Amino acid sequence: MSDPFPPPRPELPCPFAKVFPSQLVRDDAFFMWLAYNQAIDAWRADEVPIGAVIELGGEVIASAHNQRDSTRDPTAHAEIIALGQAARASGDWRLNEATLYVTKEPCPMCSGAALMARIGRVVFAVSDPKMGCLGGATDLNALPQVNHRLTITRGVLERECLELLQAYFQQKRAEN
Ligand SMILES: [Zn+2]
Repeated sequence: MSDPFPPPRPELPCPFAKVFPSQLVRDDAFFMWLAYNQAIDAWRADEVPIGAVIELGGEVIASAHNQRDSTRDPTAHAEIIALGQAARASGDWRLNEATLYVTKEPCPMCSGAALMARIGRVVFAVSDPKMGCLGGATDLNALPQVNHRLTITRGVLERECLELLQAYFQQKRAEN
């Protein structure tokens, strides 16, 4: 059996710098930059660089990055971790008034979790035609009998978040 408590892995250098937007303009780009910064933290932890933040009432109540490899947990996606944080922060698993910002379109699991959390709005940067389930590969939000609808915004900071993902995979390919 493998060690259930793996030692911390050395931090990787990331060629991209974090961006600190003005706190005065809390628009979609502002929150997506915070998700982007989380994605950089994922890269530094040698994880696929995907980050998420959840906004409620103009404040960030959750921020997380993908931790699948470091935790050896297939469910440790940025969105799942952030949804748990947000529910604990707000004291309610229902997140109708909250917005989830994530650097890549949510997968089947995370799209499902966003629906189950009844989150009000999902904003993502990069569409995923392979596994995205909010319109990329399929659309869980369009299930005919679903009792909650997410409001979706696509393409916020798409170029920046895509560059980060592509550069990470390029580097991984070069290493192998
Ligand atoms: Zn996911």
